[in-house]
Amino acid sequence: MKIGSPKEIFEGEDRVAMTPASAKDLQKLGYDCVIETGAGAAAGFSDAAYKEAGVEVVKTGAALFKAADIVAKVRPPEDKEIKRLREGQTLISFFYPGQNEKLMEAANKQGATVIAMDMVPRISRAQKMDALSSMANIAGYRAVIEAGNNFGRFFTGQVTAAGKVPPAKVLVVGAGVAGLAAIGTATSLGAITYAFDVRPEVAEQVESMGAEFVFLDFEEEQQDGAATGGYASVSSPEFREAQLAKFRELAPDMDIVITTALVPGRDAPKLWLQDMIDSMKPGSVIVDLAAERGGNADGTVMDEKVVTDNGVTIVGYTDFPSRMAAQSSTLYATNIRHMMSDLTPEKDGTPNHDMEDDVIRGATATHQGEITFPPPPPKVA
Ligand code: NAD
Repeated sequence: MKIGSPKEIFEGEDRVAMTPASAKDLQKLGYDCVIETGAGAAAGFSDAAYKEAGVEVVKTGAALFKAADIVAKVRPPEDKEIKRLREGQTLISFFYPGQNEKLMEAANKQGATVIAMDMVPRISRAQKMDALSSMANIAGYRAVIEAGNNFGRFFTGQVTAAGKVPPAKVLVVGAGVAGLAAIGTATSLGAITYAFDVRPEVAEQVESMGAEFVFLDFEEEQQDGAATGGYASVSSPEFREAQLAKFRELAPDMDIVITTALVPGRDAPKLWLQDMIDSMKPGSVIVDLAAERGGNADGTVMDEKVVTDNGVTIVGYTDFPSRMAAQSSTLYATNIRHMMSDLTPEKDGTPNHDMEDDVIRGATATHQGEITFPPPPPKVA
């Protein structure tokens, strides 16, 4: 069978779901590969590189959807892409079926199977397909680079002939995948880094990366935001007050604040409030990685950079992985290739859509004319 990737049509999206290297691996699984012309150009992969890797190049998105039995893409499909789907075809992409019910129904109506990369269960066996983590890692890294780009000073302290420069102080709020990547990047650039999370179990990880975990004056068991399956849940009002009081204390001293706090299925919690922003030094930078879900900081404007009256820059971009399209395409294409590898145990170029398999079942939103979302919880950890 044939697997193919179109050029992404979402404005500003530079990633691509298949790279020349992943195409070679897909061919080893028995698949023929096809790509729309220019699909990889913005990520640094030319048509010539794909051709060299044995990939067929077609001229239009419509031709790509026609040629491919399996369409692998990055963004959820747009209406015109949905219309191109056909019975028996498989679409693999980020899909967010919980938020995109109409889209899911439309894809199902076309008779297509939808594998949502955002629904891959977060169990050990599936880590190699965990595209959310791959992208969060890049977003965390890039958030620090973006902060540095807007911060007029060094991260690391220096003693120079022209004077002594203090190290920057960075606070990372939320130490999940993106937060940990941000911590690693900030400490490696030489900043003094602090991190906070409602899940105290991450303190050890934070400290092992050279940052200081911010504990609250709370009983330890109460620091836990009643985590469910490794994720945070909504904090109690008392806990939230203690957290905000701590942030208020830290705000005047922090040069850079990176917020990444999310609670599954909810708007981002507001944690960095106006009075904290008002108390920050001019030239300080906030990068709000939760901007797409409403933002952790007051004053975050999605997809924009704003500068407050007191000179604090707030970055609300939501396209950090796309800003590093070569890296993110490489990792995402590898996640897709691993998904295909699980779908093709015989390496015979034909997917075996095993609905008894926790990972495949978990990620499948529609199959054989049925909506299969939401999936049952995975049986294994
Ligand atoms: P996420 O993006 O949903 O949330 C980011 C972080 O925000 C989380 O660490 C969360 O605890 C924190 N947060 C929520 N409310 C907060 C608040 N009020 N204040 C401060 N922090 C707050 O999380 P994620 O990065 O997707 O990962 C969440 C969990 O899933 C982690 O335990 C991670 O290790 C785990 N995980 C497991 C796997 C796997 O086993 N394959 C893969 C990825 C992630």
